[in-house]
Amino acid sequence: MKFGGTSVATLPRWQNILELVASRRAEGARVLVVVSALTGITDALKQLCTQTATDLRLLSAQAIARRHHDLLADMQLDLPDTLATRLHDLDGLAAHGTGDLAWQAQVQAHGELMSSALGAAFLSANGLTTEWLDARECLEAVTLPNQNERTRLLSAIVDSQPDPALAAHLAARGDVFITQGFIAREGVDPDDASNKGGRTVLLGRGGSDTSASYFGAVLKALRVEIWTDVAGMFTANPRQVPGARLLRRLDYEEAQEIATTGAKVLHPRCLSPLRLPRVPLLIKDTNRPDLAGTRIGPELREEAPSIKAISTRKGITLVSMESVGMWQQVGFLADVFNQFKQHGLSVDLIGSAETNVTVSLDPTENLLDSDVLAALATDLAKVCRVKVIAPCAAVTMVGRGMRSMLHRLNPVMAEFGQHRVHMISQSSNNLNLTFVVDENVVDGMLPQLHEQLVRAGAMRTDDADLFGPTWEGIYGAETAPHDEAWWINDRAKLMQLAEQHSPRYVYHLGTIRERARALLTKLPVDRLFYAIKANSHPAILRALAEEGLGLECVSPGELARVAETVPASTPRLFTPNFAPRSDYRDALEAGVMVTLDSLHPMEHWVETFDGHDISLRIDLGRGSGHHDKVRTGGSTSKFGLPLDQLDAFVHLATARHARIVGLHAHLGSGVLEAGHWAEVYAQLASLAERIPSVEFLNIGGGLGVPSHPGEQPLDLDAVGAALAEVKQLYPRYQLWMEPGRFLVAEAGVLLAKVTQLKGKGSWRYLGVDAGMHNLIRPALYDAWHEIVNLTRFNEPATAMYQVVGPICESGDVLGSDRRLPESHEGDVVLIATTGAYGQVMSSPYNLRGPAEEIILD
Ligand code: ADP
Ligand code: ASP
Ligand code: MG
Repeated sequence: MKFGGTSVATLPRWQNILELVASRRAEGARVLVVVSALTGITDALKQLCTQTATDLRLLSAQAIARRHHDLLADMQLDLPDTLATRLHDLDGLAAHGTGDLAWQAQVQAHGELMSSALGAAFLSANGLTTEWLDARECLEAVTLPNQNERTRLLSAIVDSQPDPALAAHLAARGDVFITQGFIAREGVDPDDASNKGGRTVLLGRGGSDTSASYFGAVLKALRVEIWTDVAGMFTANPRQVPGARLLRRLDYEEAQEIATTGAKVLHPRCLSPLRLPRVPLLIKDTNRPDLAGTRIGPELREEAPSIKAISTRKGITLVSMESVGMWQQVGFLADVFNQFKQHGLSVDLIGSAETNVTVSLDPTENLLDSDVLAALATDLAKVCRVKVIAPCAAVTMVGRGMRSMLHRLNPVMAEFGQHRVHMISQSSNNLNLTFVVDENVVDGMLPQLHEQLVRAGAMRTDDADLFGPTWEGIYGAETAPHDEAWWINDRAKLMQLAEQHSPRYVYHLGTIRERARALLTKLPVDRLFYAIKANSHPAILRALAEEGLGLECVSPGELARVAETVPASTPRLFTPNFAPRSDYRDALEAGVMVTLDSLHPMEHWVETFDGHDISLRIDLGRGSGHHDKVRTGGSTSKFGLPLDQLDAFVHLATARHARIVGLHAHLGSGVLEAGHWAEVYAQLASLAERIPSVEFLNIGGGLGVPSHPGEQPLDLDAVGAALAEVKQLYPRYQLWMEPGRFLVAEAGVLLAKVTQLKGKGSWRYLGVDAGMHNLIRPALYDAWHEIVNLTRFNEPATAMYQVVGPICESGDVLGSDRRLPESHEGDVVLIATTGAYGQVMSSPYNLRGPAEEIILD
């Protein structure tokens, strides 16, 4: 049983460990516990190693000792001799810092030496007699050809042949042992008689997983259990993609591929020792042992090809080598690869052309630093022209039978279309497909890529045997209490409203006003318009007009709604798309600012715009947003004038005596990156410089609202700061914006009542009286809306439901795989964040009639 850094850092976790080990003992197993250093301690020790002043090193050692003293105090234990010795040794190392690699390895080994000493004391003091074992007596590193001193000492590999003698020795000594992850003993070097081995070596960062596997193989264990802070291996890093699904089981090869390509939950080297002895490996959450976790073993499962995971690795360096000799020169590859060998660097991806070879260096396999790279580049320059491209990131999709899934990857490829791709590589084992892109874009891409894989059916998440619940489904309720949402406090009132009638939309005007004020105070806008398509309820329009906002409309119907609801002095914009000529004419006659977004009106409607001021919507050539259906830029989207027609438009407008007083761009909805609007702003400003009549720049809306608990909201201060910078450069233009969703989404909830329940195989359906006719976003955009059982708000979420509506469509699903309390007919269910694009997109389909709307002021 291996426990990672967070699992050994606090008393409650140690209490869990005690219980878990005891339960394995009760099953009759003998247990070897492998521990990491307390979280942060390896980093602190590495930091100590870089300090050149002795007193600073001593101070660091003291701080490290204090962490252990604090935990001991929590455990109500006196300092055991075993730990005292370690602390004393660490002080000695800090006092006499030689700085060499062997010393660094010794210093860093202390993290695990200390945590294991502490653990032995705690377990023994609490009734579980535990023997402390020095991992260096059991695990011996092998010396490999081409290893340099650095990899030999800091990233060693251990011989994991079964060792029956060690197994017998331990069996005679006791039933429960605790030992260190991350460290081993240096072996004898067969090629160097002067090196007798025996020094302390490290197994590379995150290497405690590997220690557990080595022990598992050497002792031929029943199984290896990796206990960490998540319930298994997920389809993507769950901290970045809360919708990632738990992988219930994997074979060694697939798990290996996922670990190698970036899933930090397992060290890439920890699976290969287990293959030959066929020892299964289980990943479990120390804090939630009840969850099943992921099982990795030798069994191959018959199943349709599917992508199992998407992972990313940062810190990738590309080395591009251009042959200066003749084409197809014999031995060119041998020459360049020899240089990598000389510098002890392992090559990961390879792409080749007639005169060029580009390879990637992976930081998890290489101990890269700028000295090593510079030396490599100098040596390579002797045989070719070299270019080093860094920092890059590799994005990898993993799944057996990758080549048969290409047709499902269209939308995924489209995501990459927006970025520079340096390299594409398809592994020869048909298990992965990798894209190398600039490092800074990769975090933003991951959630969307994951969503696209699911939607395109490339990740076949309908296979419930393989794909477990989502991360947020498991942890969502724990990680994101809703104490900020207005409806938490208004629960009683909402229950009452739903009891009277359902389904019902309820809008909270206070929240809408508060969002409007936040935008007006935090963003340096000259004018703010509300895009009323998001929700055109008259009370909402009145409230926002009172707050000083203008209103942006896209149809004559919306203009009429505005005219009958708010004072005529409220500024209005009309931004239609592919509308008939009469729409423009009527709006201009009513004195509304009109935005055009194509050449056609200027070309064909000769007198319509004569003498009028107009605004022009430009397609900046790219889109952004939470789903491809809401991206409104690029050739595949119908919005905006393409840039290459800008000159023609200006020319026609001049001929028609229409003045272009504003430029507009809107790239899409649900954007959560703070820098997005400043980029649009700067681009529009530089275009405006070519058109002297321009007075304002309208940078659209698209301000996103988090849908998932735990997702970070948009940082308005950062948006404002970025905009202010651009404004300083282009002070002569007014800045306009037109958000919709941001103002109203979180102010609205949809209330529904449970109608029926149904079980089908392992699936449980929870029927409610609201459906896709009321809220189409889940069906149309795969939008995720939080669903809460208000009647049983404080009961534990022990059931997993597919929440469905009453419409005769399979797509009438409001939420899948939702953890909720056991629910019953008549319960009131709340669907959150539905104030935007809820009721306005409803349809008469099936003639169930619309939901009622209630305003809370
Ligand atoms: P430990 O300290 O227990 O060894 P790690 O931090 O090394 O734990 O590994 C667990 C972490 O791995 C998770 O908290 C998660 O942030 C990260 N991780 C990255 N990719 C994945 C993935 N695909 N599935 C699960 N966890 C992942
Ligand atoms: N303590 C080591 C590290 O932080 C090894 C591990 O935790 O797996 O890298
Ligand atoms: Mg780890």
